[in-house]
Amino acid sequence: MTSSTPTENLASASPIRTAAVVGSGIMGAQIAAHLASCGIAVWLLDLPAKEGDRNATSAKGKAGLRKIKPSPFYSEEALALIRPGNTEDHIEEAAKSDWIIEAIVEQPGPKQELFANLEKFMGPSSILATNTSGIPLRELGKNLGADVRKRFIGTHFFNPPRYLRLVEVIRGPETSDATVARISHVLDQVLGKTPVPAFDSPAFIANRIGVHAMVMTMQVTREMGLSIEAVDTLTGPLMGRPKTGTYRLADLVGLDTLVHIINGLHQAFPDEIFAVDNGLQHLIDNKWIGKKVGSGFYRKAAAGLESFDLDKLEYRPQEKARFEELKGVMKEDDLAKKLAKLFRTEGKGAEAAKRMLAESIAYAATVAPAITDNLAFVDEAMELGFGWEMGPFKILDAVGVEAFKAVADKYNIATPAWLLAPSEGSASVYHLDKGLRKVKQVSEGRAAKRAPAPPRGFNLKLHRESHKPVIASEDATLWDMGDEILLLEFHSKMNTQGAISLNMILKSVDKAASSARGLVIGNQGAHFCAGANIAMLLLDAAAGEYENIDAAVKLFQDASMAIKYAPVPVVVSPHNMALGGGCEFVLHSNRPVLAPETYMGLVEVGVGLLPAGGGTKELTIRAMDKSRGGIALNHLAKAFELIAMAKVSTSAREAFDMGLMDKRALIANNENTRLDQAKAEALALSRTGYRPPAPVRQVEVLGSEAMAAFTAALYLMREAGFASEHDERISLAVGRIMAGGGVSPGTVVDEQYLLDLEREEFLKLMGTKKTQERVEHMLKKGKPLRN
Ligand code: NAD
Repeated sequence: MTSSTPTENLASASPIRTAAVVGSGIMGAQIAAHLASCGIAVWLLDLPAKEGDRNATSAKGKAGLRKIKPSPFYSEEALALIRPGNTEDHIEEAAKSDWIIEAIVEQPGPKQELFANLEKFMGPSSILATNTSGIPLRELGKNLGADVRKRFIGTHFFNPPRYLRLVEVIRGPETSDATVARISHVLDQVLGKTPVPAFDSPAFIANRIGVHAMVMTMQVTREMGLSIEAVDTLTGPLMGRPKTGTYRLADLVGLDTLVHIINGLHQAFPDEIFAVDNGLQHLIDNKWIGKKVGSGFYRKAAAGLESFDLDKLEYRPQEKARFEELKGVMKEDDLAKKLAKLFRTEGKGAEAAKRMLAESIAYAATVAPAITDNLAFVDEAMELGFGWEMGPFKILDAVGVEAFKAVADKYNIATPAWLLAPSEGSASVYHLDKGLRKVKQVSEGRAAKRAPAPPRGFNLKLHRESHKPVIASEDATLWDMGDEILLLEFHSKMNTQGAISLNMILKSVDKAASSARGLVIGNQGAHFCAGANIAMLLLDAAAGEYENIDAAVKLFQDASMAIKYAPVPVVVSPHNMALGGGCEFVLHSNRPVLAPETYMGLVEVGVGLLPAGGGTKELTIRAMDKSRGGIALNHLAKAFELIAMAKVSTSAREAFDMGLMDKRALIANNENTRLDQAKAEALALSRTGYRPPAPVRQVEVLGSEAMAAFTAALYLMREAGFASEHDERISLAVGRIMAGGGVSPGTVVDEQYLLDLEREEFLKLMGTKKTQERVEHMLKKGKPLRN
């Protein structure tokens, strides 16, 4: 890390510890929930109720948080940090908070009035922030006193605030550097967000470009005579955008909200494209405003799914959209290659998709000078706020200037000249310069010198472009992160584990042990690891090759044990899914560093199997370890339930609450710097004389005592209809390992004994028809079979 600047010192010298959110509606309540999840005590204020409990409105906002799916909290414990109140009785106390976030109705008058009230009581260093979606700060803050204007800022969260990592940070005309630094620091390091600086221009960055994309897409739909299903097919994963496409997304957002935003943008930019399509207006007039009322662009009718015909203004049966020319394009996994291929493809669907992408790129470039000072911020805003895999400028680089220009010329799409002019010898927007990413300067005139793109921590994609692997393979690659720390990256489909990647774990541990200080196992793909590749198991079982299965399971165990007993620290750093084998690797690391969003669990029973890569063994050892002086069976039963019920954490925090993680593990502050943190942990452990744990030789198992308890509990579950016969059989196999087999209570076994039991029980299950059916079902349908 570079040395800190004076503003960074200021940022950490006055941390944000308390907050107040005013407005307990959709955004306010969820922002309060996320702050509380991250340990900040927060007031949640709303208008006082006219009768009864004066805090009823904010209390309702708080209570409603429990019902939101997926949960706005990392753990419900956070609820205790949210204190409901009202803007008459509690404003004085709440206004003393370090950070006040206004999230009330989107109208300047009420917001200004609220600010005037808050201003009377604000503490001398309290920061006043607004969550406005687009009212300029110069307007909202114009009546504030000179001192408070320095501490007035926009922090624009995206819905849902826990999950969308974008927060646009908007400076008002007089916002001080210190205010920006303090807020950026808390957003980044405490809330795990990516603060993206945006200019004080209506709708800021993401909504301006995102809503332009929706309105423009609706226009192209008509001009090119397409159905809404067709457009949703074109504007989803084909472009690296969410599966919903455009119209389904509009239904989700709510057509009333969408029209409200479009009208707002029309007022702010009357010369631009922002107008409400006739079809959309017809839906609004009929109150068919989307998913919340069951009808929008799509609806479920008695006769089946229907979609809205924009010309005839009526519903008709939904039709599947097929574009023959795009079949090959869709198959490509790598988005950059997919888009490049798309731009070389001819046909009606390809034409429309190319045109829509070109329109978006040109618009982003046209408005860029007014909304931000770094093109990389535009891409980040679209990626983190709208879920686009690549923002418009990355897309331009992927397809190339020539291909883009051909489409822009064909459809008369005006593009600023500086975007296409070479800068520092390269036509692309991004350019690697000695490993640093530079980006074409936002400019209203000719292309200027390149500006540095925001670093945002270790970036594997950039690392790949400028470094050679230490060891490469089809499914995993070992990299040198610098400072004598190696990084093993998985990159198979869903990062599932087979012989190649398991062997890479063994090789990487060896390499780290012989020539480095430590190893990090982690990646920046969609998920850490979705478990074992079960396809091979099924083939082997069908061919009766049980020795192969035994060897495969043994290899899994060897990989886990290599992680645990490596002479150098092995930091496993999961994010999103860490299931089955992926979870087992985390369990075997002596210092896991988890992304806040980590969904981990031992889910093998879903495919009729059990954790045999050391997972059942590890949870057994931990339960028995915790039991010293306590009631052993209680601890073991809790661990047993995790496996038998295939429990998955809904956050890293919950993995601790469930007992999957213990005090050895850490939660990374921010996904952008998770791998840096993992590296720092490996280094710190190494520098303080890391020694692997001593081999576990003495596990006192509960034997027949535990088996009797598990058997009784499972019998009841089956009788009550909660478990099938095969569920019972699988769970009994798990129980047998955890009990240490049929031995008498108090027998002492070692780690290898439990690993052998894991393999034995795994093989027995793999030999059953019902397990094979479960595996096959998962492979074909992608979901578990209950048989
Ligand atoms: P909402 O209508 O769900 O909630 C607004 C809340 O503010 C209500 O509970 C209301 O009772 C309360 N309120 C109104 N006037 C008040 C006052 N004078 N004092 C105290 N409380 C008052 O609205 P929302 O969707 O949560 O939006 C809130 C703000 O966040 C708006 O500025 C909006 O533009 C912005 N925003 C919304 C979204 C979104 O997706 N909904 C996303 C980003 C930003």
